[in-house]
Amino acid sequence: MEELCKKVVEALKKRDFEAAFCATKEEAAAAVLAETARVARVGMGGAMTMKELGVAEKLEQEGKLLTRGADCDVFLLSANAITADGRIVNIDGNGNRVAASVSGPKKVVYVIGRNKIVEGGIDAAIARIKAKACPPNCVRLGKKTPCAATGKCADCDSPDRICKVTAIFDRRPTGTPTAVYVVNADLGY
Ligand code: SF4
Repeated sequence: MEELCKKVVEALKKRDFEAAFCATKEEAAAAVLAETARVARVGMGGAMTMKELGVAEKLEQEGKLLTRGADCDVFLLSANAITADGRIVNIDGNGNRVAASVSGPKKVVYVIGRNKIVEGGIDAAIARIKAKACPPNCVRLGKKTPCAATGKCADCDSPDRICKVTAIFDRRPTGTPTAVYVVNADLGY
């Protein structure tokens, strides 16, 4: 997987992102804490990866994790999926995570575990999200959706549906400095 992670890093650089490979979770946590060391306000969207890194807890202890939206110095998030050729894909319910990753923060920082990489393009990325990210997220959030009950997407019409906004990043959004750390470890879902 290390080779694939490094391939994604190179693909992200070609798409105008800052990008770096992290061999371990500890390296990734250190990278995030370095990104947030000299700022006062840190936002976060989709917290599982940051929780697993121990970063969310540390930033809370430091009193920096003050916002959940775009009005922050650094916005931290992961991706629901990333293609091997460097396209980031995220699906949101209310869209606040996606919105903050496009514009608003002074910098956006992704940490993406190797388990999020797909080799089949955008369709494969969306399929991964519907199969592996949304069902456990619906369970975690207490949503009454078919996928929470069965583990499978039914392309539902549920009021609790969390798949409402799909963002595909072909390139870094203009005006938003964005760093992406690709980690040779499984993180989040
Ligand atoms: S469309 Fe509905 S059933 Fe499918 S993954 Fe999203 S919330 Fe779950």
